[in-house]
Amino acid sequence: MKDPLSRRQMLALGGTVAAGALTGACRTPTRPHGAALGATLFGIAGAHTAGKYALPPLPYGYDALAPLYEERTVRIHHDKHHAGYVRGLNATLDKLTRARESKDYGAVKALSRDLAFHGSGHVLHTLFWHSMTPGGTKMPDSLARRMKTDFGSVETAQAQFAAATKQVEGSGWGVLAYEPIGKQLMILQAEKHQNLTVWGVVPLLVCDVWEHAYYLQFANARGDWVANFMKLANWKFAADRLAAAMA
Ligand code: FE
Repeated sequence: MKDPLSRRQMLALGGTVAAGALTGACRTPTRPHGAALGATLFGIAGAHTAGKYALPPLPYGYDALAPLYEERTVRIHHDKHHAGYVRGLNATLDKLTRARESKDYGAVKALSRDLAFHGSGHVLHTLFWHSMTPGGTKMPDSLARRMKTDFGSVETAQAQFAAATKQVEGSGWGVLAYEPIGKQLMILQAEKHQNLTVWGVVPLLVCDVWEHAYYLQFANARGDWVANFMKLANWKFAADRLAAAMA
């Protein structure tokens, strides 16, 4: 194996170096960094099959999260709403294909917006189902240490996550994410699915606060839904994704 290039050599060669390279991928040039991340972080079974985006099955039964998150809401949320984003994403990609074929880009602005909306909707919902598990999970030490470093304590991180999620304006998400340039955790809000992010972050744990996510069960008590989500939170899933993102 050839000696890897130093960061200074990489910069001298390029000028435009990928963020991953700046943060360490250049030290392991024989490893396909992006491919490894993709397989580990987003290789969720069923989310993309036979060349199309697809509705992945729930990782548990429809009633498995009850009574904290009731079956009727889970069923409609997954089978109707998440499925709608998958349909919208595939339809948008088909329209973009036709636009390229016809060289008619008159609708490209609207289609680009649709792509971000439905694409982000599918990604976030796919992660959302895994962000919960019956009974929740104990937080692994690896994630707890990271939270302590970046937020002061696990309790502080959880409090900020719950507050940020509850206070999303309109429809959106609370997102615990890892930012790979600073190698630190961030808690973000997403409005709709695609607005308000830091490019390149890896979402670790996400909580849906669109009204469709909670209104049937909680009516307007969004805070009660967020409190229940915290009891269902799958911190093991988040810790595994953090480890993959930092690898
Ligand atoms: Fe949703």
